[in-house]
Amino acid sequence: MSLIHDRKRGAWEPGAGAAVLGRRLLDLVFPPHTLDRTRPAQSVGLSADAWTRVAFIAEPLCDGCGAPFEYETGARCAACLARPHAFDRARAAVIYDEASRDLILQFKHADRTDLSRLLSGWIARAAEDLLRDADAIVPVPLHPARLLARRYNQAAELARPLARRHRISYLPGALARGKRTESQAGKSGAARRRNVAAAFSAPERLRSRIEGRRVLLIDDVLTTGATAEACARALKAAGAAGVDVAVVARVRDAAVASI
Ligand SMILES: [Zn+2]
Repeated sequence: MSLIHDRKRGAWEPGAGAAVLGRRLLDLVFPPHTLDRTRPAQSVGLSADAWTRVAFIAEPLCDGCGAPFEYETGARCAACLARPHAFDRARAAVIYDEASRDLILQFKHADRTDLSRLLSGWIARAAEDLLRDADAIVPVPLHPARLLARRYNQAAELARPLARRHRISYLPGALARGKRTESQAGKSGAARRRNVAAAFSAPERLRSRIEGRRVLLIDDVLTTGATAEACARALKAAGAAGVDVAVVARVRDAAVASI
């Protein structure tokens, strides 16, 4: 059965027909701006060539980390069975690769906050089950100094429209980033986990809104999952009943990246 997103009701519902679904998917896939700077736009959005290379993640996938399976192998991948994550489930819309990287870097560093509608729409589709179960949405916070330099937190730009559209309470202050961490780039999984282990905390004033709730944590990219795990630990220590993670993109094989 095909599902479409009913914007008024904020819910995914059986589609009225292929034409409707097709138009909604086009709305979702083609953003209202030209992103591909090297080629003239063929229509709104990236050139058709660039779009065909974006790898959307579909079933079958690991229920733990959201990694795509080449074929159905069970509910969880070997890496999740060997070392369960601190979060319960993670979902990503696309693979982080050459095709999606430029889009995400523009969103993150080039003031392209206009992309949040498109990218949060991708998350909504990939994390449909997680959104249905969520009582609260929390963005991964940036360190205040980094927020000052960048002027916006890309995770918050994704989380806010998701919360509004799905009528889930939005708690941007539920996590605080205290310790200034080094960049995660180039670090192994173990080094990343050490780097961010004590970086996040849940401020006392919002704990009552976390206790006993299922929290959906939002970020732009999942690599080893170290940041998401540190956030999940802080939220669970504050009493969250569960923590899921939804991102725009994930590396193809986080298990390899975390070795
Ligand atoms: Zn997994």
